[in-house]
Amino acid sequence: MSNEETLFSKIVKGEIPADILFQDDRVTAFRDINPQAPTHILIIPNKIIPTVNDIGETDEALIGYMFIVARNLAKEEGIAEDGYRLLINCGSHGHQEVYHLHMHLVGGRPLGRMLKG
Ligand code: 5GP
Repeated sequence: MSNEETLFSKIVKGEIPADILFQDDRVTAFRDINPQAPTHILIIPNKIIPTVNDIGETDEALIGYMFIVARNLAKEEGIAEDGYRLLINCGSHGHQEVYHLHMHLVGGRPLGRMLKG
C-alpha cells in the first residue's frame, strides 16, 4: 500500500472540500465534481489503494463493504429500483485518472450500452 497522499485521501481527511454523502472509519463517498449523470458518486476506501491491481487479500471485506455502501447510497438517491451502474477504472487503458481506488455509482437516467467507440 502506498503512503503517499492522493487527491482523494485529502478529501477523506477534509483537507480538500467535497460533497460527502457518507463517511465512516473504512469508506468515504462523495459526489463527483464532473457528474456524468444525475447521480454520480465516488465510493473510496479511506486507506490508499492505488488501483484494483493493488488490492490485497486482507482487503476482501473492505472491497465487499464498498458495494454495501454503494447499494445504500443508490437507495438513498432513489435510483435503486430503476437501476444504475457501478464501475471501477484501472490503469491507463482503463482511463483511470486518480490513483486512489474508487467505485463510480452512476444513475438517474438510462445509461445505454457500457462501452462506446
Ligand atoms: P477515474 O477516471 O479515475 O475513474 O475517475 C476520476 C473521477 O474523479 C472523475 O470522474 C473526476 O470527475 C473525479 N474528480 C477529479 N477530481 C475531483 C475532485 O477534486 N473532487 C471530486 N469530487 N471529484 C473529482
